[in-house]
Amino acid sequence: MLNHLHEKLSGVSSDPGVYLMKDKAGKVIYVGKASNLKKRLTSYFKAPDSRKPDLKTQVLITKISTFDILITASEQEALILESNLIKRYLPRYNVILKDDKRYPSLRLDVKNPYPCLTLVRKIANDGALYFGPFASSQAVRRTLKFINKTFKLRKCKTRDLKNRLRPCLNYQMGTCLAPCCLEVDENLYTENVKEVVLFLKGLMKIFTQRMSKKWFFF
Ligand code: SF4
Repeated sequence: MLNHLHEKLSGVSSDPGVYLMKDKAGKVIYVGKASNLKKRLTSYFKAPDSRKPDLKTQVLITKISTFDILITASEQEALILESNLIKRYLPRYNVILKDDKRYPSLRLDVKNPYPCLTLVRKIANDGALYFGPFASSQAVRRTLKFINKTFKLRKCKTRDLKNRLRPCLNYQMGTCLAPCCLEVDENLYTENVKEVVLFLKGLMKIFTQRMSKKWFFF
C-alpha cells in the first residue's frame, strides 16, 4: 500500500459513512458505504492473505491513488448518500463490481390511470416515480402498509385489474377503493395518489435534510 494511503487510513474514524476511491487523475472510480469506515477501508488495503478480495476488487485496489470519506449519522443515511453519489459520478468500478444485493425502493406507476405503489429492488427508467432506496426492508414494508391502509390505492397487478369480476379481499378490508369493478372517480383516485407522492417526498426530504447537516469530508 502507498505510504500516504497508510497514513490516511490511520486517521479514518469508525463511524458509518461513504468512501470515494479516486485514481491518480483525481477521478472518482468507486463509491461505497460502510457501517464502520475504518474496518471497511482496512479490508481493502490491509486484508490478510487468507481474506484477499476477489480478482475484480484487487484490480480496483491497484487503481486507487487516494480516497475521501463522508461521515453520516447512520447506515441508512450512508445508503442514500452512496446512491446519490453513484448517480452523480457514475464511477467505473461501481458498474464492474455491482453485486446482487439491491436495496428496496417504492415504485408508483403514475402512467397508469389507477396507479399502485409497490416495493421493488431495481430502479428502471420507465416513467414511474421511485422513492428510495431504503436500508431497511422492514421499515419500507411498514411504510407501504401504512400508505395502503390510508390512501387505499389498488394492490393488484395491472393485468388482474382488467380481468376481475368482483373486488378482492382488499376492498372488503377497506384498504382499496376497488377500481377493478366499482365506479371509482378518477379525480378522487388521483387526489389520493398526489397525497401519497407528497407523503413520500416529505419522508425523503427529512432524510436528506438530516444528512446534509451532518456530512463532512475527511
Ligand atoms: S379490490 Fe380490485 S383493484 Fe383493489 S386490489 Fe383487489 S382486485 Fe385490485
